[in-house]
Amino acid sequence: MARKILFENIDIPGIKDYEVYRKNGGYRAVEKAIKTMTPDEIVEQVKTSGLRGRGGAGFPMGLKWSFIDKKSGKPRHLVVNADESEPGTFKDRFLMEYIPHLLIEGAIISSFALEANLSYIYIRGEYMWVFKILEKAIKEAYANGWLGKNILGTGYNLDLYVHCGAGAYICGEETALIESLEGKRGNPRIKPPFPAVSGLWAEPTVVNNVESISAVSWIVNNSGEEYAKIGLGKSTGTKLISASGHIKNPGVYEIEMGMTVDEFMNSDQYLGGMIDDRPLKAFIPGGSSVPILPANYIFKTANGEDRLMTYESLADGGFTTGSSMGSGGFIVYNDSACVVRNTWNFSRFYHHESCGQCSPCREGTGWMEKILERIENGHGRQEDIDLLWDIQSKIEGNTICPLGDAAAWPVAAAIRHFREEFEYHVRFPEKIKNRNHFVNEP
Ligand code: NAD
Ligand code: SF4
Repeated sequence: MARKILFENIDIPGIKDYEVYRKNGGYRAVEKAIKTMTPDEIVEQVKTSGLRGRGGAGFPMGLKWSFIDKKSGKPRHLVVNADESEPGTFKDRFLMEYIPHLLIEGAIISSFALEANLSYIYIRGEYMWVFKILEKAIKEAYANGWLGKNILGTGYNLDLYVHCGAGAYICGEETALIESLEGKRGNPRIKPPFPAVSGLWAEPTVVNNVESISAVSWIVNNSGEEYAKIGLGKSTGTKLISASGHIKNPGVYEIEMGMTVDEFMNSDQYLGGMIDDRPLKAFIPGGSSVPILPANYIFKTANGEDRLMTYESLADGGFTTGSSMGSGGFIVYNDSACVVRNTWNFSRFYHHESCGQCSPCREGTGWMEKILERIENGHGRQEDIDLLWDIQSKIEGNTICPLGDAAAWPVAAAIRHFREEFEYHVRFPEKIKNRNHFVNEP
């Protein structure tokens, strides 16, 4: 039976409500943390756990917490990033919708560990109904003495607010999120300084993803050492995967890090294999910002080893034969999918969501979108493929925030692995125009 940490209690009827959550051990970790542990002890436990940021970057969470300057005398803040907007990623919504108190509990403990008295959850505007669920849960936490002044009579004060974004993908980037929270346009800032040094109102701030914060109660209850025993190597613990595409069982799954991609994709307990048993063509393991991989690289790494659901194994071979775990948005394509159309779709998204501060991203995403549109619609030229390659290579690494890279990588991977499909579009425009879906037989 697969190990569950975040979904341990998710099937308990009514677990969304405070009373049921509390009866099932909820807020026990807050009591333990605030009454019996020092903030630094909690930071140490999180460090020991090896938990890596679940928003996509996989940065060690305890290390990030330890960058917070507690001696500056400035107020400190925790900001939970609930601006989940990565195409293919919907796991944080699931957590907040079905077990919201797990996040509130984690946010209280994490704020205590950072010695923060004012913290925020920043949620994307499209999740309005989830915003309301969180507001209700926060109200219940205040009413029961877990938030507010003098929590549990310990003298610790914490106010926690949920703040709703207005629908911009870029506001999920931590510095854009902070700008937005400050009431400004969500433009990313140049890093460094990192938010841990100068974040919200230029005060030390930790920005952590919903899934990362939701794991903190378990770590406090069971210890960082126990958490580190789950998973494999530097990919400790469990990971939520949002699975979509041409698979039999789409949904959100909690997996133990280290299982094979083959088992995850094909066992009935998880994705159940391909819908209608059509052949697998490609997959994206970590949301739209990471490279697409063709079928021959999905189950085996460049060295012929089993590809595993870990940060290391999914990235094995770099972008030539590997990809990235990213935010855990697992998108599967069968042979009816058109890679050119899919890439165009992603490019259109990144162009629309670019904040426009850096020329390579502002202009380059638009150029890529236009070129892909004409190739997909049967007006492409042979030189367009090299032009696309050239543009993506000039965006990567030359922008303020990772949106530029995220726009470039899917294009690069699509050309690298599916060049013949682009060429087919250019050589046989009539066939492309007269189809509903791309048939994978050049
Ligand atoms: P990053 O690698 O720049 O930073 C990771 C975290 O570590 C940040 O919080 C950063 O402040 C911190 N950090 C790194 N070095 C530091 C240092 N020296 N001192 C202090 N703090 C330091 O990545 P990022 O921009 O946070 O995230 C990029 C990832 O986000 C992408 O890989 C993508 O997969 C993912 N993403 C997720 C979504 C989503 O909806 N979940 C959307 C878009 C992108
Ligand atoms: Fe804005 Fe794009 Fe530059 Fe990011 S890379 S700051 S989204 S223009």
